[in-house]
Order: sequence, then C-alpha cells, then structure tokens
Amino acid sequence: MMDVFPPNFSSTIAWCVPCLVSLDTLQELSRKEKLTCKSIGITKRNLNNYEVEYLCDYKVVKDMEYYLVKWKGWPDSTNTWEPLQNLKCPLLLQQFFNDKRNYLSQVQKGKAVTLKENHSSLQPAIAEYIVRKAKQRIALQRWQDELNRRKNHKGMIFVENTVDLEGPPLDFYYINEYRPAPGISLVNEATFGCSCTDCFFEKCCPAEAGVLLAYNKNQQIKIPPGTPIYECNSRCQCGPDCPNRIVQKGTQYSLCIFRTSNGCGWGVKTLVKIKRMTFVMEYVGEVITSEEAERRGQLYDNKGITYLFDLDYESDEFTVDAARYGNVSHFVNHSCDPNLQVFNVFIDNLDTRLPRIALFSTRTIRAGEELTFDYQMKGSGDISSDSIDHSPAKKRVRTVCRCGAVTCRGYLN
Ligand SMILES: [Zn+2]
Ligand SMILES: [Zn+2]
Ligand SMILES: [Zn+2]
Ligand SMILES: [Zn+2]
Repeated sequence: MMDVFPPNFSSTIAWCVPCLVSLDTLQELSRKEKLTCKSIGITKRNLNNYEVEYLCDYKVVKDMEYYLVKWKGWPDSTNTWEPLQNLKCPLLLQQFFNDKRNYLSQVQKGKAVTLKENHSSLQPAIAEYIVRKAKQRIALQRWQDELNRRKNHKGMIFVENTVDLEGPPLDFYYINEYRPAPGISLVNEATFGCSCTDCFFEKCCPAEAGVLLAYNKNQQIKIPPGTPIYECNSRCQCGPDCPNRIVQKGTQYSLCIFRTSNGCGWGVKTLVKIKRMTFVMEYVGEVITSEEAERRGQLYDNKGITYLFDLDYESDEFTVDAARYGNVSHFVNHSCDPNLQVFNVFIDNLDTRLPRIALFSTRTIRAGEELTFDYQMKGSGDISSDSIDHSPAKKRVRTVCRCGAVTCRGYLN
C-alpha cells in the first residue's frame, strides 16, 4: 500500500494499489490520476514529462519519417507518432534498427524475403517483433535489478539474451542461502570456535574436525575433491580477513546469466577472469528430505530433475532442490568436462548430514567463458557411487547431454 497526494489537496487521501505492482504501473496510474508521489519519482515538475521508453513502429508520410513512441510511465494507449527530428534518443533508434535487422536475418535464414528499405511502413510482423524485443529487454533489466537487490555478495549479476524472446523465468525466486523445508532445522550456530592468532599456521577449526586447512595463502583450494572444507565460524576469535573464511564471503566475481545459442536454455558465464582453484559460487536451494526429493522427482520433468542435488557427504537424508528457489547456480549448465568442481563445506552448521555446497574453479577461466559443473559429480565427487543411480525416480528418464565435450558421456543422468 502507498500514499499519493494530489498536489492541491491539503488533506491526505490514501490510495490502495496491489502490493506487487511494478514501478512502471504505479507511475502510469499516478500520471493517469494526475497525482504526484515522491517515492515513485512522480513530482509536480515531471508529472507531464515525456521520455521515450522505446520505439514501436515506423512510417513515412509525405516524405516525412515518423516513429511510434511508447512513453515511459504512460500506458500503450497513449503511444504517439512523432517526426524523426523531434526524437532525441539515438541509442533507442539504433536499437530499433538492430532489432529490425536481426528479425530480417532470422526470417531470411528460412526463406528468401527481400524487403525494400524506405518502405512507407513496416510489415506488422517486424513491428510486433521490435515491440516484443523492447518489452523483453525491459523485463530482463528489471529482473537483473531485482537479482542484484536480493544478492548479498560482492560480485554483480548481469542478464543477457541476444538469442531469442525468452524473458525472466516465471517461477524462480532468488535466495542467498539454504531454505529449509518445514520440519527441517538448520542449526546455524557452531559448537566450537578457534582462538588462533593466526589461523593459517595454528591448529585451527579444520584440525579440530580432523582435516587439513582447505586453502593456501592465495585463497585457492589445495585439498582434493571429496575432502570437506571446515571454515572458521561465528564462534572463532579471528576477524574477516582470516585465510579460512572464503565461501562465507560469497561470490566475488561478476557473472552473467545468458541465453545459450546451442539450445541449453539459460547458462552462466563469467565477465572477469577467474583464477584457478578459487571459490566461484555456492549451490543453494530448498533443503528437503530425500523422500520428498523422490516424490518431487516423479513430478518434475527432465529439466526439474536436474535441480535435485543429493547431500550425500555422509548420509543420504537430505537433498537440495534448486528448481524454484536458488541463486545463480540454478542457471549453471552441466558439462562432462566442467570448469567447476563441487566441495562440501561446513561453517556455522557442523551437522555432517547438511553440508553447504561450494563450486570452485578447476582451472583458469577466461572472461566470457561459460561456467559448468558435472551434474553427476554432485556431492561425493565419485561417479561410481553416484546417488542418482540409486534413485528409481530419477532413473526413469534419461536426458541427452549437449555439453559438446570430447569426453561427453552422452547423458545427463
Ligand atoms: Zn583459527
Ligand atoms: Zn576458526
Ligand atoms: Zn580463522
Ligand atoms: Zn556431456
């Protein structure tokens, strides 16, 4: 609920609008009712402002070029035809031409369609495509903003689709950490904390758990896959710069969720160079019991099943389901020759049935490269004892792998 005040009213009139309505819709409502509202950016001064949001169509009348303009914060019904010389939006004009060219090149792939330039109007199909593309761009930008508002780590998240008209996923909610299903409790308080003056050299938390410190001085993982990571926790005396606090600081690299051009849906690529053996991201989702995972596995299609991640470090009681709730890792594709490797991590929760899952680079990854991990290596890191094989629900259907690696095993499960 929000309040908007008509400029000339001294008394307060409360307006009710649905909670989840978008900023654009609020601005549209506000302008339509001629109401100002500081918190959504509509003031007396800009109440009647007109800013071009995107261009929808093109025509030539009496040798004059016109563009159909969608105005920002105004509904489609107020779109107007404006002469080219009135438009001060070179980038949007460029976008319009690019979209038109892309559409034509796509159409021409199939059949030879020659379209005369300087036509007096656009074909309706082209204008429709340009508007859909503009709307998609806005929706993806809005989703990108939302992801960055929700994430609590340093690296930025970008979203890009230059491939098709797919918009943001409809049934996906960004979370930063495990979301336990009702009845499952994640004890987020360690029972032990170290009191080292230097966690790198002293007998620290890993030693207490009977394992080696996982990292070297350059924050790279130095233990073999399959070995657990025990990081310093909230009970430890050491500060945030302790060399044994890596996964808990979250993703440091800026990543991009992008639409793949080889039919693998969304994927994730890095926008910066990733050092070898460094932490890239955590795999999070709903924590459910393995029985619940069996049940969901029966309901999910092939794609849904690939989001089920068995926590089989020491037991097989729990599964992480990242189908609806997850972070960037939800969008990371499988490869039989991956550049990310899975590790079990214990920080504030020392319950060995519920490790956190961290993905580390196996080699240097160039900026722009797609990130992948081996879906069959989930958990144990050992294909032969893979828990997927024990699960009748997940065994029912096999999904063909399209990773393209020389060593591709042919199937995702
Ligand atoms: Zn320590
Ligand atoms: Zn410690
Ligand atoms: Zn420490
Ligand atoms: Zn493969």
